[in-house]
Amino acid sequence: MSTCRSLTLSALMLCCQSIVAQTKPIYNFQDLSHAYYEKQKDSLKKAWTCPAVYKDKETQKKYRDIWNERTEFVTEAIDNDGYLYEAEIHSYLDDIVKQIVKANPKLFPQAPMLLIDRATSVNAYATGGNFLAVNVGLLAFSRTREELALVLAHEMAHNALSHPEEGMKKRAEWFSSDEYKQSLNAVLDSRYERFTRLKKVFEGYSFDRSKHQRYHEGDADSMAIILLKNSHIGIDPTVFLRLDSADIQYRQPLRKPLKEYFAAYQLQVEDSWMVKRTKGLSAKAYSFNTTTAGLADSLKTHPDCQERYNKTKHEQTSGPLTPIPASLRDKAMKMMIWSIYCNGNMTAALYRICLEKDRGNTDPWYDFMFSNVMSGLYYADQKLGRFNAIAVKPKEYISNSYYELEMMFEQMPREKLEAFHNALQQAPFWSSMTPAEHGFKSLVHTLVSNADDNDKQKAAAKSFTASYPNSLYCEFATPFSKK
Ligand SMILES: [Zn+2]
Repeated sequence: MSTCRSLTLSALMLCCQSIVAQTKPIYNFQDLSHAYYEKQKDSLKKAWTCPAVYKDKETQKKYRDIWNERTEFVTEAIDNDGYLYEAEIHSYLDDIVKQIVKANPKLFPQAPMLLIDRATSVNAYATGGNFLAVNVGLLAFSRTREELALVLAHEMAHNALSHPEEGMKKRAEWFSSDEYKQSLNAVLDSRYERFTRLKKVFEGYSFDRSKHQRYHEGDADSMAIILLKNSHIGIDPTVFLRLDSADIQYRQPLRKPLKEYFAAYQLQVEDSWMVKRTKGLSAKAYSFNTTTAGLADSLKTHPDCQERYNKTKHEQTSGPLTPIPASLRDKAMKMMIWSIYCNGNMTAALYRICLEKDRGNTDPWYDFMFSNVMSGLYYADQKLGRFNAIAVKPKEYISNSYYELEMMFEQMPREKLEAFHNALQQAPFWSSMTPAEHGFKSLVHTLVSNADDNDKQKAAAKSFTASYPNSLYCEFATPFSKK
């Protein structure tokens, strides 16, 4: 009896919580960069005209080509919804940037244009031209305002020190240098080992570049410390040590056996799905370290983190650190899982959901996504795209639990995928979902039930985008409506 009552009570509390959490969408479809930054894209194109730097025509032409490549990189990302606007996150970041700008007016006569990149890697980047981008992956990963500030100040320092422009110049000079041409001619003249020789040409170039970049990193770190001191923002160099572990997020094991995450939805996972076979993905012999030993430096997005920490640790300020608001991290996490799902990587999406559950997150939006992932896998299987949807990761980057999930996704029979899809469509969490999510549910159901009927899929997608034109879920529906 008492268990029953407490269950009802917690279910009730969950409902209340979810109503608060669910009334507002994370962002609108129109906040994706193709729409939101359309005008800024055009002004950026105009503002980024290549300056005349070289008298030598050929070098100047190379420089202009490289310069335009950068413009295209940013404008294409805007067109392809690589960025998005979300008011709370944007103003939180912009506030830090403006504080740094205000305290360092000589270095920053103008505040940079700041964009939120939807990429999941724990990173931020400066492209020069007073442009700065922060990945949602970094937002979901960061704990304090000071951590974010150090990363932002570092990127702003790259811009202030003209590192991006200098890098473009170095490339232009190298590609029009006699040394490069001679080595290239030697390659073209040689009948044998052409490829090996070509590789050598590029090795010379990239070696110089990495040496150069390493040197730049130290400079940007030193300047970042000064920028933050001037701004009276606390300095927390331990962020470098955390960045060092940023690439091992999928090596973080799950707290519970995989089947328990499914049992929560009354879904039975069979042990045989996770048994290694002699053929296919599961045949690969992986040996997993139970300790979360680091990745080799060569595999990291941020090498030399320990060294960067050692160089800056004496700058650690003693004041209290400012935790990032939970709502901000929550939004970043949802943005990330949604974009992983839209990119069709079902294993990574489900793994992130399980990691959230391990943190004690009971927001039913994650149940909604759990359901979408399982239905997505069923759909992919019918379209003979199951392997792509599993998106196998190299073993260096994953935990044993992640590998088990890959194996399970590979081996569970299609009838079971269908059964899971149907069971999840009836799950209790749907009662706390908004109309847009219910609309999405019926779209997904139409897709998986008519995987070979393009007309029906198109009609369902069109009906969804017409009924919920502002919904972020239109991103998923739109390609089907244009089939
Ligand atoms: Zn850097």
